[in-house]
Amino acid sequence: MGWVSTDNEHEGWAACVAPDGRLSITSSGAGMLFRGLTGRYEPDRMRPDYEVVPDSEIVGWRGHCSCGWQGDRWERVASPTAADFNRRRDYISADDSAHASLRVEDAIHNEWNAHVAPSEALLGLEAAARDYNRAGRRLAKTVAAAKATGASWADIGRAVGISRQSAHERWADKAAPLHVEEPQRRPPDGH
Ligand SMILES: [Zn+2]
Repeated sequence: MGWVSTDNEHEGWAACVAPDGRLSITSSGAGMLFRGLTGRYEPDRMRPDYEVVPDSEIVGWRGHCSCGWQGDRWERVASPTAADFNRRRDYISADDSAHASLRVEDAIHNEWNAHVAPSEALLGLEAAARDYNRAGRRLAKTVAAAKATGASWADIGRAVGISRQSAHERWADKAAPLHVEEPQRRPPDGH
């Protein structure tokens, strides 16, 4: 289960990197599963088109997204003293599962967040524009209703916080159609 963007277009993970550069997010009891058979590793018994790279051979981690994006590589180093977070180097014991440490996973999550930030921002913009247009339509309807009761443009301008002339320029065209668009208008000669 990875990180999913609000629009569901992106799903990201902290993937393990094999010595040949392939990425995997799936582990079995024996190691990490990588799609494709190179002959250098044992095929997985359950999924024969995958091979098992032992945890100890995983060389690093990187962000991976369903859209194809990949983050920069985090290198797995051989000893705790060689670890250096600022240089993207982290140590994980050869006996452990090869998954990224929580700290590296968090850093990769942040990199992925930066990757989806533009589309998330545009989504926010679309939502804001929808709200803005909806509010604008409601305002225009309310103005038309006020006009229908006999309010002047000066009254309406004062209520909205703009000048009489601005109110007139903004809604004079829109206030009128309310009367002609009534769907159930009866013919002039009545019933
Ligand atoms: Zn993506």
